[in-house]
Amino acid sequence: MDELRKILARRVREITPDVVAWRHRIHENPELSFEEKDTSALIEEVLRESGIDAPRRIGRSGTGLCAQVKGTAEGPGRCVGLRADIDALPIQEQSGVPYASKKPGVFHGCGHDSHTAILMGTARLLSELRGHFSGCVKFFFQHGEERLGGASEFIEAGVMENPHVDGVMALHALPDIEVGEIGVRDDFMTAGVDLLKITVEGKQAHGGYPHYGVDTILAASTIVTTLQTLGSRELAPTDCALVTFGRIEGGISNSYIGGPVVLEGCIRYLRKTTQELFHRRVREIAEQVGGGLRATVSVEIEPEIIPTAVDRQWVDRVRRAARGVESVKRVVELPSPAMGGEDYAYFLEKAPGALFRLGVRTPGGPHCPTHSINFYVDDRAIPVGMEVLAAATLDALRSEERE
Ligand SMILES: [Zn+2]
Ligand SMILES: [Zn+2]
Repeated sequence: MDELRKILARRVREITPDVVAWRHRIHENPELSFEEKDTSALIEEVLRESGIDAPRRIGRSGTGLCAQVKGTAEGPGRCVGLRADIDALPIQEQSGVPYASKKPGVFHGCGHDSHTAILMGTARLLSELRGHFSGCVKFFFQHGEERLGGASEFIEAGVMENPHVDGVMALHALPDIEVGEIGVRDDFMTAGVDLLKITVEGKQAHGGYPHYGVDTILAASTIVTTLQTLGSRELAPTDCALVTFGRIEGGISNSYIGGPVVLEGCIRYLRKTTQELFHRRVREIAEQVGGGLRATVSVEIEPEIIPTAVDRQWVDRVRRAARGVESVKRVVELPSPAMGGEDYAYFLEKAPGALFRLGVRTPGGPHCPTHSINFYVDDRAIPVGMEVLAAATLDALRSEERE
C-alpha cells in the first residue's frame, strides 16, 4: 500500500468517533425533504472547522450545499464530484437505538444520516490531504432526494461546471449486505420510473341486468392482470421491467356497475428501449383489452425519474479502492439492480461515475430493509464507507492515465 493510503487509513480511524457522533446528531434530528435546515447548518459548521470555504446554498429551500476543496499538488487537474443525500422520511422510527429520532413521525429510514456523515468525514480527510492531489473535489450535500427534485436543482444551479466535473461518486446503505461488504454493478444500480394512470369508463347499469351496461371493474381488473404479461412475455428474460399498480379507485355500489375506475401505478425499467416498448404496449393492451370489453380507456404516462446508469471505469475505481481497504472483507458483485428510483441519476446524466452499496447490516444480525420502521445502520459501516470513498477519489485525482 502506498504511503498516502496508510495516512488515509490512520486518519479514518482517528476521526471515526467524531463522524459517528455527527451521524447520531443528524439521526436524532431528522428533517424531511426540502426542510433540511438544521442538517445543512451542522454540515456547514463541520466544513468550516475542516478548513473548507463556505459552501454555496442550493435550491429553492436553500438546504442543499455545494462545497469545494482544491488540491495544491501538481498533476492532471481533474475535478471529482461526491454526492450524499441528506433528507429523512415521514416514518415513525421503531429501531430502538439510543440515538433514535426525537421527532415524531420523521426518521432517517433510508440511511441518509450515514451518507451525510460519511461525506462530511470524507470532506475533512480530503481537506487535510489537499497537498497530495491536483484539481478539485466538489461535495454535493443534496437535499430533497426522497421526494425527488433535489438533484435537478443541483444540476440547474450549474454545479457540474466551473470547473467541469469529470466524474461523480456516491454510496448508498444496503441492509442486504453486511458491514465490511461493498456492493457494485457495472450497468444500472436503480430503475427509471414513469407514473401511470389509466382511466376506464363504461356504462352504468343495475348489477342484476349487466347486459344493459359496460362493467368497468371487470375491464379494469382484466387490464391489471393482462399488463402483468408484459414483463413475462414481451421482455427478454435477461432484462428487467415492471408494471405495478398501487391504487384503484372507482365503482358505484354493491348493486351497480359501470362507474369510472381509475388505476394508478408505475412502470419501472432500466433500458431506454424497454421504456419505449412498455409505453407503447401498456397503451395498446389497456386500450384494446378495455375496448374488447366495450369500455373506453385513456392512458396517461408521466416520466418521473431516469435509471442510474454507472460507468465501468468508475466502478472499477471503486473496486480497486475497496480491495485496498483493510476493513473491507468482500466486494460483492450485485446480481441485480434495485428497482427503486434514485435521483443521483441526474448527476450521472452529466458525468460518468459510480454508485456503490455500503453493507450496513450487523454480521449475523436481522435484515432491516430501507424505508421500514426498524431500518438500522451499524456504525461500523461508517469508516468503511469513508475510506472507500476517499481512496477512490484520491485514485481519480492522482491517476496519470487519460480519462
Ligand atoms: Zn429512500
Ligand atoms: Zn436513500
